Amino acid sequence: MNKTAPLIDRISRQIETDGPISIAEYMTICLADPLAGYYSTKSPIGQNGDFITAPEVSQMFGELIGIWCVAMWRNMGSPDRFNLVEAGPGRGTLMADLLRSAAVDVKFVEQVNVQLIEISQPLRQVQKAALADYSDQIGWCDNIQEITSGPVIIVGNEFLDALPFRQYVKVGENWHERVVAPVDGGIGFDIGPGMLAPDALPKDHQSQVEGTIFENSSARESFTGFVAQHIKDNGGAALMIDYGHLKPGYGDTFQAVKSHQYCDPLFAPGEADLTSHVDFSALCKSIENIADLNIATTSQSQFLLELGLLERAGALGQGKSALEQKNIEEAVERLAAGDQMGELFKVMGIANDGVELVGFSNGIGV
Ligand code: SAH
Repeated sequence: MNKTAPLIDRISRQIETDGPISIAEYMTICLADPLAGYYSTKSPIGQNGDFITAPEVSQMFGELIGIWCVAMWRNMGSPDRFNLVEAGPGRGTLMADLLRSAAVDVKFVEQVNVQLIEISQPLRQVQKAALADYSDQIGWCDNIQEITSGPVIIVGNEFLDALPFRQYVKVGENWHERVVAPVDGGIGFDIGPGMLAPDALPKDHQSQVEGTIFENSSARESFTGFVAQHIKDNGGAALMIDYGHLKPGYGDTFQAVKSHQYCDPLFAPGEADLTSHVDFSALCKSIENIADLNIATTSQSQFLLELGLLERAGALGQGKSALEQKNIEEAVERLAAGDQMGELFKVMGIANDGVELVGFSNGIGV
């Protein structure tokens, strides 16, 4: 089939000839297809894109993460040359705000080597422009395996949710994989023959009702596993922020967003952003056998407040107009209120044993 045909036609033809595909395969095609995939063709983030992320809500988000990075770097013994890695940097806003606030420690900014992991060529161009002031200290990688050795600080906001995941549906006593199959001349969900082994399910799986959905993601686990092992071997710290849950759970969280509206994930392949909630309990469990690591989780609200969100908002608002102060207050609400991003978004920190993880003293879930 013609490689430039619309994705929906290519996917339909593929599943008619080769059989249904997993949600993970569907997601990979929709997001990463080199010609028509969402991340290859769209500029997704911002008012004119499909969704708004925390760094785009307010500069305070990236600034506080910058303060976290400096604090962790000092806890690591202020190593001379070190890598600062960001996974999925979007428009480069978080990194720009981070580096500006990290300039409180001149040595940090002098010694840092920035590595950006980015799949999208259009976004790489946006990042290059946003970070033009640091051009001789920045490079790009296609994936986490390419980062260079040496002490490291790794950050990622809304990166893990974009990695492929799978769904399983309870049918009788078994959990069958949910697949994308030919349905009524188009594409639809179906139940595939593949099954998930009981020991890969939460303990209470037997009491779940027929039709319950369980999600898992080997892509997210292997990313986290690589990060954890890299920190153990090289020294360092990581901070991953995303929407999701700290306890194992059930339910369909597959979501598609286009022009700031939720839509059907199968409706227009390649046109919408596809994600699901991150299971932080599974990520923690997948690295618990790597010895000598300090792992913690908390809510975005707890984390930002502990890092000084309110103090930063006060300082930023000083001497500003009433309207600007109102905007800052609204940004604080949006980032930290329980009914906005504050509780839905979770934060996971990883560091070497003995390196104190800043921002997790009210940690929950681990
Ligand atoms: N962190 C940014 C952007 C979040 S959107 C923010 O908070 O605004 C997800 C980001 O991850 C985008 O930059 C996207 O292009 C990138 N991305 C998604 N899947 C990826 C993959 N498999 N490898 C590398 N980057 C990826």
